[in-house]
Amino acid sequence: MEKKIPYKIYLAENEIPTQWYNVRADMKNKPAPLLNPGTGQPLTLEELSPIFCEELCRQELDNDTAYFDIPEEIQNFYKMYRPSPLVRAYFLEKALGTPAKIYYKFEGNNTSGSHKLNSAIAQAYYAKKQGLKGVTTETGAGQWGTAMSMACAYFGLDCKVFMVKCSYEQKPFRREVMRTYGAQVTPSPSMTTNVGRKLLEEFPDTTGSLGCAISEAVEAAVSNEGYRYVLGSVLNQVLLHQTVIGLETKAALDKYGIKPDIIIGCAGGGSNLGGLISPFMGEKLRGEADYRIIAVEPASCPSFTRGKFAYDFCDTGMICPLAKMYTLGSQFIPSANHAGGLRFHGMSTILSQLYHDGLMEARAVEQTSVFEAAEMFARVEGTLPAPESSHAIRAAIDEALKCKETGEAKTIVFGLTGTGYFDLKAYESFNDGTMSDVIPTDGDIAASLAKLPEVK
Ligand SMILES: *Cc1c(COP(=O)(O)O)cnc(C)c1O
Repeated sequence: MEKKIPYKIYLAENEIPTQWYNVRADMKNKPAPLLNPGTGQPLTLEELSPIFCEELCRQELDNDTAYFDIPEEIQNFYKMYRPSPLVRAYFLEKALGTPAKIYYKFEGNNTSGSHKLNSAIAQAYYAKKQGLKGVTTETGAGQWGTAMSMACAYFGLDCKVFMVKCSYEQKPFRREVMRTYGAQVTPSPSMTTNVGRKLLEEFPDTTGSLGCAISEAVEAAVSNEGYRYVLGSVLNQVLLHQTVIGLETKAALDKYGIKPDIIIGCAGGGSNLGGLISPFMGEKLRGEADYRIIAVEPASCPSFTRGKFAYDFCDTGMICPLAKMYTLGSQFIPSANHAGGLRFHGMSTILSQLYHDGLMEARAVEQTSVFEAAEMFARVEGTLPAPESSHAIRAAIDEALKCKETGEAKTIVFGLTGTGYFDLKAYESFNDGTMSDVIPTDGDIAASLAKLPEVK
């Protein structure tokens, strides 16, 4: 018999996961290795260590260890804002008139406003443990920079954030949160790096790009003694840390004997989705259970649904390693009026392999329909969702509406990755009715895919 499900399912302190789960250990087809763009050979620990913290390099390269202990100091930090609630969306179900049962895992309950803190604190911990002075990173919209600033403040590390210039100017409040946590925030491109100076000389009026900010952050890391570079998505290590989301979700569902039919997450670089689905995918890979898993991406940046599974650069500046992933090409830039985040041209190598092997689905949704879903969700469930998260809401609503047609009472779980308080410009254009949907043409995508690097 089904127990009465509370509005929010919380885990007790002794039910919180103490290990991260590495889904690669259960994958028959492992994700392809990162390649050194110079030699075309798989990157070694020695090559990665000048850029990333050593323990994180180990996690990055480890395809076999199924569980990693979460160090006690990280577990303690997690206690400040975890476990995050698994919420039964009773009000949304009612508003939709669906027999489906909808749950969402809410990761916006911390000052950074998103799931990114789960990995930021882990990366800061390993940097501290290695005796480093600080870390460098880039931030576009600002969520990752904020999360990293919070994590560095906790461990007394210096944090240099290169923030894409247009975002630095448009989102002064994000910048001030970072500065409050002690980070040094530099608009990118800047005069503090060779890459930045060169770019400014050539294009003095540029408003920056994520690719350039990454290049500056990497340069700052390798040219400053005692610094390493940290990244908030895409990498295997980030996905590993984010499995705390999925492990908590699974523990909460198991507590009430709930078995999901469909699991949905938004996909930018793939870290929240990978983290949410990992324990479920593990069961699927081991043949213990089956789930439908759906990645939701913007129609304006559709890497899974229209990209190519190929080796590509992880950054626009073409200095980072090559990863085999679903990609639109490292030179692909989504339309400027795309407001909903998830702008990365590629995708986690783990998720790319799983998708390639037919173990999960993907769909692309248009931003106006995403904001319609966001508006409905905000009004009935109370939380103002981040535009990124709202991609998952859109798909969850669509699946629940299908259940209404067929009369099936499916159980749907989706990841609500964050809140939208810093995205009010996007909400403004939606509310004003000026938001549009710009979808790249086949020609646009082909042109950018034509520039993929050649890998033998
Ligand atoms: C960064 C971010 C995402 C997308 O990143 P993934 O690595 O794909 O998870 C989604 N939602 C929010 C709120 C974010 O800040």
